[in-house]
Amino acid sequence: MRAVAVFPSEREVRVIEEAEPRIASPTEARMRVLDVGVCGTDREICAFEYGTPPAGQAHLVIGHESLARVEEVGSGVTRVRPGDLVVTMVRRPCPHDYCGACPQDRQDFCFTGDFVERGIKGRHGFMTEQIVEDEKYLVPVPEALREVGVLVEPLTIAEKALIQLWDVQERLPWACPHRPGRDHGHCRRALVLGAGPVGLLGAMALRARDFETIVYAREKLPNAKATLAAGIGARYVSSEDVPPDQLEERFGAIDVVYEAAGASKLAFDVMGEMGANSVFIFTGVPGRKVAVPVDTDLLMRNLVLKNQIVFGTVNAGRDAFEAAVADVGEFLKRWPEAMRELISGRHPVERARELLLGRRGGIKHVLAFSD
Ligand code: BGC
Repeated sequence: MRAVAVFPSEREVRVIEEAEPRIASPTEARMRVLDVGVCGTDREICAFEYGTPPAGQAHLVIGHESLARVEEVGSGVTRVRPGDLVVTMVRRPCPHDYCGACPQDRQDFCFTGDFVERGIKGRHGFMTEQIVEDEKYLVPVPEALREVGVLVEPLTIAEKALIQLWDVQERLPWACPHRPGRDHGHCRRALVLGAGPVGLLGAMALRARDFETIVYAREKLPNAKATLAAGIGARYVSSEDVPPDQLEERFGAIDVVYEAAGASKLAFDVMGEMGANSVFIFTGVPGRKVAVPVDTDLLMRNLVLKNQIVFGTVNAGRDAFEAAVADVGEFLKRWPEAMRELISGRHPVERARELLLGRRGGIKHVLAFSD
């Protein structure tokens, strides 16, 4: 079967032939891969900035945003049946019993860093025709989500962020001054940094929770992402038209920043403009470039004097995957056109190199391995 692999030592990315995987334990299932999303992480792995092949192997089969159909199950499998659609979780626990998180099935919060991620770190991923996985890491997806189920994994980033945001803002159990009459604490004006798939899915998750949502990105208006943002009831603002220091004056106090651009300079400029009791959430992983000066006194004064919180979030647990499946269904009902527009193209595996290495427009590109 075909698979898309990187060979870091040869600095090569190519489509290879691999043996078909077989079920090796009673709790495993074998799936036929349908769709695999191409994301920024895949492109970084293909630029050899990130990613690690399994121990002792020269190559890594990439791909971690998947939708697949179960074809065969081991004798002990109870959660899925042949024919079911599933999304496979990405991270596997570290081997250490002293890790506070992994033994509790919360490897998305692994303390040791010795976790494994399929298609990213230490284990082959999903850009191939068939995969085998323990049912513990399979998340069932309703058949009605066949066309958009590949968006579940990128949405889990926002879902995990929002679960944490809710916990954090429980510290404010009173009314919000600029959303009077709403429920307590959660002042709901959000700024999303970046209009890629993670940003736009994050904006949808925020809109679905009744946040006034501003998508803030570089590209000037008019553009397709701005139209999509308008379609979900969000406002698109270009940083070329409104610089960070004019955001509050133009739109009011910002309660939540959901960073999904991976651009650290813009992020820290925006951080200096956050409102009282606000939360800044980082999801991007920037490449290391030239160091940029930041006004640390300003940021520290604001953090203290305005009770601000900054947190980063990576990967996702089962709770976020299940929330993402439910939300993808909800978004499809509310905004069917916007959801379909998020997927800019479905391509055959022969186009993998071009999508991973070349310049491309659009939002989310998908490799279709099977119908
Ligand atoms: C994936 C996460 C992963 C992270 C870091 C992201 O692209 O969605 O599952 O934890 O990269 O490797």
